[in-house]
Amino acid sequence: RKRDIDEYETLQKAVEELDLKADTKDFSKLPLSQPTSRGLDASHFKTLTDIQSKAIPLALKGRDILGAAKTGSGKTLSFIVPVLENLYRAKWTELDGLGALIISPTRELAIQIFEVLRKVGRYHTFSAGLVIGGKSLQEERERLGRMNILVCTPGRMLQHMDQTAAFEVDNLQMLVLDEADRIMDMGFQTSVDAIVEHLPKQRQTMLFSATQTKKVSDLARLSLRDPEYVAVHEAA
Ligand code: ADP
Ligand code: MG
Repeated sequence: RKRDIDEYETLQKAVEELDLKADTKDFSKLPLSQPTSRGLDASHFKTLTDIQSKAIPLALKGRDILGAAKTGSGKTLSFIVPVLENLYRAKWTELDGLGALIISPTRELAIQIFEVLRKVGRYHTFSAGLVIGGKSLQEERERLGRMNILVCTPGRMLQHMDQTAAFEVDNLQMLVLDEADRIMDMGFQTSVDAIVEHLPKQRQTMLFSATQTKKVSDLARLSLRDPEYVAVHEAA
């Protein structure tokens, strides 16, 4: 037991001392838990992409993030790694309920995120689920209460928040909005606003998009606190 406590404390200290100017390029140089390091290794992720080396250190330190980088630049790991790590350092267990909610505009993208989460998170003990419809509300509902990390689409998530009485979000630590520009383009602003209304105010929020549009900053203003703006621009 003593050993476990030391491990968490050492990791926490390393995150606090992590130099944001260091421009870390290797996952092995980041203060990450054994389960995440092994998951990254097993998935053959070694070097961070630009958006990852900008966003992950800040996110590990608990900062709110507004991230923009084009499609294919590796935004998924930019939030998956901090979600796993920040819950791990919080010693999150099944009993703590929902710790992180990841919102995606489409079912297909949600499934892709879920697959990355399963791959990289395979050595963690968190429970993770998809809430994207396609199954009966009842079936989804039964599994919801046991989940630590959920990947969802806005409409379906809101349906559960409105209708699933026992669905607890009071402990939630992290909210991620992926493809925030598409979430807005597809007309989900009202649903996302309503979801955010249900969530605790004290939380970490990360918002990622392929573009920096006015619409995204509207969403950001509503959900982020003193965010770090992280953008990767294409070389001219
Ligand atoms: P985005 O969400 O920005 O469009 P993704 O997160 O879907 O980008 O990543 C795009 C591709 O790059 C995926 O195939 C993913 O596996 C790969 N990728 C992401 N990060 C890394 C990395 N650090 N090293 C190698 N490949 C990566
Ligand atoms: Mg993506």
